[in-house]
Amino acid sequence: MIDKILRDYDRTHTLNARDIHYILEHAEEASEPLFEKAREVSDRHFHKKIFVRGLIEFSNYCRNNCFYCGIRHDNAEVERYRLSTESMEAAVKSGVAMGFKTFVLQGGEDPDFSDDLLADWVRRIKRIDDEAAVTLSVGERPKSVYAMWKEAGADRFLLRHETFDEAHYGKLHPRAMDRTRRIRCLEDLKDLGYQVGSGFMVGSPYQTTENLVEDFLFLKRLQPAMVGIGPYVSHHATPFKDFPNGSVELTAVCIAILRLLFPKANIPSTTAMQTLAKDGRNRGILAGANVFMPNLSPSAVRRRYALYDHKAAFALEAAENLEELKDQIASLGYEIVMNRGDYTDKE
Ligand code: SAH
Repeated sequence: MIDKILRDYDRTHTLNARDIHYILEHAEEASEPLFEKAREVSDRHFHKKIFVRGLIEFSNYCRNNCFYCGIRHDNAEVERYRLSTESMEAAVKSGVAMGFKTFVLQGGEDPDFSDDLLADWVRRIKRIDDEAAVTLSVGERPKSVYAMWKEAGADRFLLRHETFDEAHYGKLHPRAMDRTRRIRCLEDLKDLGYQVGSGFMVGSPYQTTENLVEDFLFLKRLQPAMVGIGPYVSHHATPFKDFPNGSVELTAVCIAILRLLFPKANIPSTTAMQTLAKDGRNRGILAGANVFMPNLSPSAVRRRYALYDHKAAFALEAAENLEELKDQIASLGYEIVMNRGDYTDKE
């Protein structure tokens, strides 16, 4: 059956809901031929090159209370921090010195970090390197604010939809959070001309195979430039602390499905993969991922940006170990390239 699905894929260049459902339900037997096909598609578009992005986690203050997330508002154990403009600039400058051409500013929805200040930061990064791409990952805002940041020079925006199913969304989030609003944000961002990334967690509490199929179908409609997914990883101080972690294997299968659905999309092998398996990053790449996001946050705050327990942030996750990462990726048969790695839908 998997052989037939992959043969049909060669003809149609897509997967339908039934194919995706079958693959997810037979992940173990499907994985090898699926990974092989995903690598073939990935290699055709990216020629065994891996793009890197310097990730700067600039604030762990958050107004929200997502049940899965370690930096949720009500977690009183978190030592909260917010980078100063100077330390953000120092992180960017060290990234520029290492050759990074994309910087990702990620944070909680920090109510005391003004929208104007973030616009100022975008302009500052562009002044440090006017060729660098700036990606924002700061949650939900009105369209006018997204427009202001775009005007300031932001190129890309990451906002995972987390789960498309309304009932499932309601089980992962408090009532104040609204799936419709999140999806409207994604539409606004697309409309404004951002390269937009979305995505979901694999193995989040209460998730069903049908939920995952809906996630893929939603992404097919959205046509994102980037898709970030990772296994759900438990955090000890959240309402979901007793739920098991998601599976690295199933996440790799989902990465491969994404690669088949979105041949040219930028798909990272995420930190959550590496957190749950010592070869997690490699397994993402061998399933069709083409991006890796080393951590450029000042090392003193890295541990405090803990969305989940035991986050990988110091070995090859760390931007300062870029040279070792390059060697390791080379031993897999891939090459890290230091360019912007913009999304393009051209061949
Ligand atoms: N506040 C921003 C950034 C969120 S953090 C926003 O709302 O977009 C980035 C991603 O980490 C989230 O979108 C979520 O999918 C993921 N995440 C959060 N908690 C997690 C957990 N416990 N396990 C795995 N991934 C998690």
